[in-house]
Amino acid sequence: MTDLRRLADRLTVVTPVMVKTSAGPVLVQARPLLEELQEEVRPSGERSAGSSRSVGSGAPVALAVLDMLCRIEEDTARLYWLARSYRGAPPRRPGIGGYTLIERVRFVADHAEAAGIEDEATRAYSEWVAGIERLFDPPKVVPLRGIACPACGEATTPTFDDAGELVDVPALSVTLAETPRGRCGECGAVWSGPEVADLAEQVGATPTALHLFGA
Ligand SMILES: [Zn+2]
Repeated sequence: MTDLRRLADRLTVVTPVMVKTSAGPVLVQARPLLEELQEEVRPSGERSAGSSRSVGSGAPVALAVLDMLCRIEEDTARLYWLARSYRGAPPRRPGIGGYTLIERVRFVADHAEAAGIEDEATRAYSEWVAGIERLFDPPKVVPLRGIACPACGEATTPTFDDAGELVDVPALSVTLAETPRGRCGECGAVWSGPEVADLAEQVGATPTALHLFGA
C-alpha cells in the first residue's frame, strides 16, 4: 500500500487504529478523519448520535476546525482538477451534484500517479492527517508490554507514578503520529518513521500491527 493510499484511507474510510487503554493497546475501528471534521463544523443539532469524541466547545477550536476544512476543500478542488486533467483520465461523472469532498479525495488518490501529482498529493494528505489528528487528539502513546528492547534487552523501566511511587512500566513504547516513533525508556534508543516497522518486526508484532506502523 502506498503512502498516498494509506493517507487517503485514513481521511475517507474506517481504518483500524491502535489506541492505549488501561488493559493495554487495542485495535479500534477509527472513523474517517474528514467525516469527523465535517461533523464538527455542522450545527450541533445535526450531530449524529454515535459521536463520542469532542474537541471541546471553545470558539478558537471551532475556528481552527472551520479553517482546516476550508483549506482542505480548496486544496482538494485544485488537486482534483489536476487529477482529471491528464490525457486518458476518466470522463466527468454525468448528472448533477458532482463529487463530494470525500469522493474527490479518493479520486485524486486513484489518479495521482497517472496525473503526475503523486508527490504533491501525498504531501497535502500527510499535512491534513497530521493537522486533523492534532486538532482532535494528542498523539497516542502505546506501551509495548512484556517485550524486551532489542538494544538493551530490558522489558521494563522504573518510573514514578502519580502517587510518587516507583513502579515498573514497559520500557518500549510507540507514539502513533503521522511519523510514528518508538522509544526505549530504559536505554533511550529511538526508532523513527520506517525504523518503527523494523522495531515492530524485531519484537514480533502481528502483521496487523506492522501495517499500522507503516510497514
Ligand atoms: Zn533499551
